[in-house]
Amino acid sequence: MKHNNLLTSPKNITGFLVILTLAATAVLAGCSASASKNPESSDISGLLEKGIKPNEMGMVMILEYHRIADKESDYTRSVENFKKDLETLYEKGYRLVKFSDLMNGNINVPAGTTPVAFTFDDSVASQFSYVKENGKLKIDEKCAVGMMEEFGRKHPDFGCTALFNYLPTMFEQPKYVEKKVDYLYRNGYEFGDHTVEHLLLRRQTDEVVQREIAVPIKNMKEINPKVKVETLCLPCGSIPENEELMYKGSYDGTSYNLKWALLVGSNPMYTQYHYKNPGRLIPRIQVMDYDPEDGSGAEGSEYWLNYFDKHPELRFISDGSSSTICAPAYMKHRLLPERLPAGVSFVGY
Ligand SMILES: [Zn+2]
Repeated sequence: MKHNNLLTSPKNITGFLVILTLAATAVLAGCSASASKNPESSDISGLLEKGIKPNEMGMVMILEYHRIADKESDYTRSVENFKKDLETLYEKGYRLVKFSDLMNGNINVPAGTTPVAFTFDDSVASQFSYVKENGKLKIDEKCAVGMMEEFGRKHPDFGCTALFNYLPTMFEQPKYVEKKVDYLYRNGYEFGDHTVEHLLLRRQTDEVVQREIAVPIKNMKEINPKVKVETLCLPCGSIPENEELMYKGSYDGTSYNLKWALLVGSNPMYTQYHYKNPGRLIPRIQVMDYDPEDGSGAEGSEYWLNYFDKHPELRFISDGSSSTICAPAYMKHRLLPERLPAGVSFVGY
């Protein structure tokens, strides 16, 4: 069954109604806000009675998009499928959060839902473009930002944010670069450094690696000094020989100090306080359909969504409280307490 999951299966309908109520009562300022979460300790027995089994020791997904176009192809999601992705994730109980929040363990989604982050690579026009309509500039309703915001207006509890990993192309409309960066910055989107020339960093000298990473940092400071870039998106996932240069280095007077480096594939990950957390080198999942006949799309987004439908016990499920990490008691030994955000404690059941 395509949409069978914790939230929509009939036996959990009470839990679903609770989530709907939470969603309806969340006060949201525009599309950029994510759903609010109760700072009080969670009522575990209450949640269990409602069919919600929190598991904040479960895995999360960071999804990876490139182009959007009318037709689906390699590294290109069709407009139709992108809209379908939003619907599917929403129906299956996923909620969009900022990439940095997911990395920092600052996860504020309602009880019973799972955080997910979007990333877009290569800053092409189909991710964010302006069009003129009756002499007025507006966001193209067929670009990713347009579609996310349209969906966010209908479902404000879904969240509306993404990490844009930029190249010098910067969405391919040169005259709107500042306007777009400003818009994304003000509306809760984030930026990652995707280098200058999209070279395989494995094959480059230390100097070239640092140039590739430092120059976009310098460029962004010139476009909008308020934007904080904390992430490197490795072109084709290629890791430089001197790995430390992914995070720290300098070139021609610009130094950088980044927190995370993004890979290209291909698996979900445990959050920062789980002993299996990958640290700074972060796996992602390409958004693509899965064909079980020929195996194409294995380890892509549909494959993993199906996987979590079959193995809900491995999926991160929020308890709706920001002061507790709630999970089955036997998982406690997997927790790294020193990684917990201040004031947060583990609650087992
Ligand atoms: Zn790329």
